[in-house]
Amino acid sequence: MGNVLQAHTHIALAILILLAATHYTGIPLHPLLVAVFLTSAMFPDVDILLDTKELSYHRRGTHTLLFCLIYGLAVTIFVRELAYFSGVYAGGPIIIILFILVWVYYKGKLGKSLKYLAGLLVVSTFLCLELSTKTIQITSKAIFLASAGGATVHILGDLVSASEGAKMKVFWPAGKKYGVSIVKTGKTSEKIVYVVIVLLIFVLLYLRGGIVWRIVETIKH
Ligand SMILES: [Zn+2]
Repeated sequence: MGNVLQAHTHIALAILILLAATHYTGIPLHPLLVAVFLTSAMFPDVDILLDTKELSYHRRGTHTLLFCLIYGLAVTIFVRELAYFSGVYAGGPIIIILFILVWVYYKGKLGKSLKYLAGLLVVSTFLCLELSTKTIQITSKAIFLASAGGATVHILGDLVSASEGAKMKVFWPAGKKYGVSIVKTGKTSEKIVYVVIVLLIFVLLYLRGGIVWRIVETIKH
């Protein structure tokens, strides 16, 4: 799996981007939309399922901006239709969609998917409490931005970890391939990048003066 940047690195990068974006703009969040954003940041690697032997499909179809767009639209329409037909608030359908996405990603492993989903909802709720003073409504536009935006963040991460064979036609059908090999996936360089991102997340959360700040201050005294 030489060209597969690990899911936790993609998610950490997505959290960091979310932190930076909310820090400077103060945009309102919603726990379920944060969960969609983070799941979408790992979902393009679902292409590994199509090709377990040679990874010859990997980083093709699902690693293009066109995919991000279609994927975002599909998630948005699915959530809307499910909400419409079931007559429930969009939150219920979002949890169902998240479960399906994660279940597919982990090749149908129920236990792993449920554990991921539970962890994700906790992390997303925590991030909302930390970052946002007001909660956004779950509108179609917000669902689209969270899903298509998350998938785009995935591609950004892969762009810095692309060895020669793993460069991507981001603007497909335009033919040019993009990517640099700064991070070697699964190797020490990815681990270092992951640790640095996680440290940055905690430093930023501490500087914001929210829950993390209070915990650290309590420990200090
Ligand atoms: Zn990828």
